[in-house]
This record gives sequence, structure tokens and C-alpha cells, in this order.
Amino acid sequence: MKALYDITPFTLLDFPDTPAAIFWFSGCNLRCVYCYNPDIVFGTAHIDEEEALAFLRRRQGLLEGVVLSGGECTTYPHLLAFCRCIKTLGYTIKLDTNGMRPDVIAALIDNKLIDYIALDYKAPESKMGEICGSGSEKRFWESFKVIRKSGINFEIRTTFHPELLSEEDIIIMSKKLKSEGYNREYYVQIFQGGMKTIGDLASSNLPIDYEKLAPYITLRS
Ligand code: SF4
Repeated sequence: MKALYDITPFTLLDFPDTPAAIFWFSGCNLRCVYCYNPDIVFGTAHIDEEEALAFLRRRQGLLEGVVLSGGECTTYPHLLAFCRCIKTLGYTIKLDTNGMRPDVIAALIDNKLIDYIALDYKAPESKMGEICGSGSEKRFWESFKVIRKSGINFEIRTTFHPELLSEEDIIIMSKKLKSEGYNREYYVQIFQGGMKTIGDLASSNLPIDYEKLAPYITLRS
């Protein structure tokens, strides 16, 4: 079955301390207005698993990890089996996820198929529809709890567009993370315009109060 929209053959930026490739899974269960990857979200997969695994065989000894990104890779029906094959080749795996499939995340963790997770915290429940088209904060928290309980290395991140989320929203989200026991960096990335997005979103002219946010977040460019 075709799984991937594309492969980035090499990155040093996307998997902490790990030279990696990025596998871009097509399709997503959300429609975030700020999404920079509409071609991947709406596109058709045209790289099959065998092609991707052949690529990894050629890169053995050069790369150490694979980032599963997209799109949303947890919507791919054969993800567990695919991860098993990747692991058999000796690679570590990082999962990039919007957290809307806690069942899949739990299965990946239970089967020891994932080494690092970047989990998106999209928005408070009241803004999920406006920002992501669907989804629920409740499912984010289910994923969060599964990951936290597992002891796996992970990070939480949010994309911030000041016309979609307020500084107050971000502070509330940060405090909620803390109250749920999250004591790592809370990465916030400011939306940058100038690229095609699902919602044709432009950068905001609203000023951002970085001083107010500073105690609660780690800015990521
Ligand atoms: S930003 Fe939203 S729509 Fe785009 S891939 Fe991530 S979860 Fe899917």
C-alpha cells in the first residue's frame, strides 16, 4: 500500500541528536487553517512501504533515525507493521502527531516502536473547530496521559497565530500542562506567513507580548 507523499533524505533539525530522514505521510484527520502542508494533507501517497524501506537500507550507517511526519501518520492503517520493519533495520523513530489518535499512540508505545514524540497541543476545546476544523482537546489529553505514563522522551508544541489564539490562551495552555505534570519545554512557534496554507492565512499584524509569554513558553523559530 502506498504510504508516503514524500521523503526528506536528511535532516539534523527534526529529531533531537539524531541524523534522520523524514517520511511524509499523506492525509490528515484535521484541517488546521495554518497548515503549511496542504499538498501533503490533500495529496495522494505515491511512495510505497517497500520503496521507503529500500531507501533506508541504502542509508544504513549514514542515518540513525526516521521522523514520521505528514499529514498525520497515525491515520495510516499499517503504521505498526511499517514501524516494525523500520525498527528491524536498526533505526530509531520519532513520531510527529496531532494527538487525535491516542489509541494508535498507545499501541506504538506498547509495542516499543517509538523513541521520541513531538505532540501538538493545538488549542483549547472552544477553539479546536475554528483552528483545526475538527478534533478535540480531550483527545490531546488522552494522548498526553498515555505518553507521559510511558516515560518516553517527548515534547509539546503549539503554533501561535495571534488572531486565532490569544496570549491568555497560551498561558492557560501552559499552566494546564504544568498542572498535568509536564515539566519540559513548552515550544511555541509563531506562525509565519508567505507560504500556502490550508486556510490561506496571512501573518498577523497584531503585536505579540513576548514579555508576558516568556515565563510560560520556549519560543521556537
Ligand atoms: S498542521 Fe494540522 S492539518 Fe496540517 S498536518 Fe498538522 S494536524 Fe494536519
